[in-house]
Amino acid sequence: MQTNFTLAQLADPDVAESEKILRACVHCGFCTATCPTYVLDGNELDSPRGRIYLIKEMLEHDRPATAEVAIHIDRCLSCLACMTTCPSGVHYMHLVDHARAHIEETYRRPLAERLMRWLLANVMPYPRRFQFAIHAALFAKPLAPLAQAVGFKRLAAMLQLSPSQRPHAPRPARTFPATAASGRKARVALLAGCVNDVLAPQLNGAAIRLLTRHGVEVVVAQGAGCCGSLVHHLGRRAEALVQARANIDAWSALGDIDAIVITASGCGTTVKDYGFMLRDDKAYAERAARVAKLTRDISEYLVTLPLARKQDVNELVVAYHSACSLQHGQRVTRQPKEILTRLGFVVKDVPEGHLCCGSAGTYNILQPDIARRLRERKVGTIERLRPDVIAAGNLGCVMQIATGTNLPVVHTVELIDWATGGPCPPVLREYRLREHRPKETTSPAMQPSMAIG
Ligand code: SF4
Ligand code: SF4
Repeated sequence: MQTNFTLAQLADPDVAESEKILRACVHCGFCTATCPTYVLDGNELDSPRGRIYLIKEMLEHDRPATAEVAIHIDRCLSCLACMTTCPSGVHYMHLVDHARAHIEETYRRPLAERLMRWLLANVMPYPRRFQFAIHAALFAKPLAPLAQAVGFKRLAAMLQLSPSQRPHAPRPARTFPATAASGRKARVALLAGCVNDVLAPQLNGAAIRLLTRHGVEVVVAQGAGCCGSLVHHLGRRAEALVQARANIDAWSALGDIDAIVITASGCGTTVKDYGFMLRDDKAYAERAARVAKLTRDISEYLVTLPLARKQDVNELVVAYHSACSLQHGQRVTRQPKEILTRLGFVVKDVPEGHLCCGSAGTYNILQPDIARRLRERKVGTIERLRPDVIAAGNLGCVMQIATGTNLPVVHTVELIDWATGGPCPPVLREYRLREHRPKETTSPAMQPSMAIG
């Protein structure tokens, strides 16, 4: 694509980077076929190519963002399916991140929108505040239909998505020593994150059990917190960088570690991008690049371990939902399925697996209608597989899909932990007890009750 930036504009490193990305696009439109928002409505402006044109116009003419640009960029899920499809290697992620920051700096949103975005940015990344907010949401949750009826769709979506159980206290920083008889083989940092442990501490709990059982010492570092992706996707770049720097400081203080392991693939995509995000920060660039290099999705790390199967999982049929941040953001597709299969699960790919489930960080709150349509489409394709359980590598997807189906939805690491000697994932155990339908065991030596763990 031809561009016409001036030399003065190109002196800005962000503009220079975006110019490079824009020039790589050859307008072929292949990306439109896999873009969820285009697939739903067929509007060119809600396709990657359409958004690229809007961003080019805005940046090239140094214009403040208009309402039209904000609407179409806001509708982008940042699912990055377009990057997987693009034959020209267009780095849409960095382009749209730049556009979101430009919109945030130059466009004044309607008051209700500003309030909602402020609330999300100032509550969710802070586990204590988030825990308090979830407590409050427990009382307000029954008001979701009323909020929907009077037109407060985003508030209604937030209440619908909030859990019905009490939230948990954030996980304190500490070291979990390796418990394997063979001793310690490696030492890793685990990102506890912001939302994960308040809503679903069993996910990181499963990862810690699993790693320590296989000889890996796990450190939850003092001072590490939100990865920054939540505010980054809201265009609040300065806040995202503050959060990234805090994590880099916390992990650098640990000395030698073999990896930084992350169970939320959305966070993993952002931490792997720290090197780029902080490339112009002299004090952090080098350490940011090192952190990015050390970062592994939990499945990438586990696939390197000799996982010992301890539990007959009775060929349980798992519909594996590949989170966008994992398959498109990190290009991790093989490892989760390979581990599950090795451990005795029957893994089924979900048709249209490249399409997002509609979770996408805070997208299901900010764009509830599109998110609901994507969730219904995703749940429909999953249920047609008739699985026993649905697994995904990102809590956001787990929660989004779970609000649309009665099937149990778990994080992949919970299944791996269970098969290698941990407890049965709570939602799977409850579901199987409720349904009274333990699956026939394929091994005469194993009784169905044993499979419940
Ligand atoms: S990131 Fe996803 S929603 Fe956004 S343009 Fe690309 S494919 Fe479409
Ligand atoms: S597939 Fe790539 S090169 Fe083609 S229009 Fe989309 S972003 Fe541009």
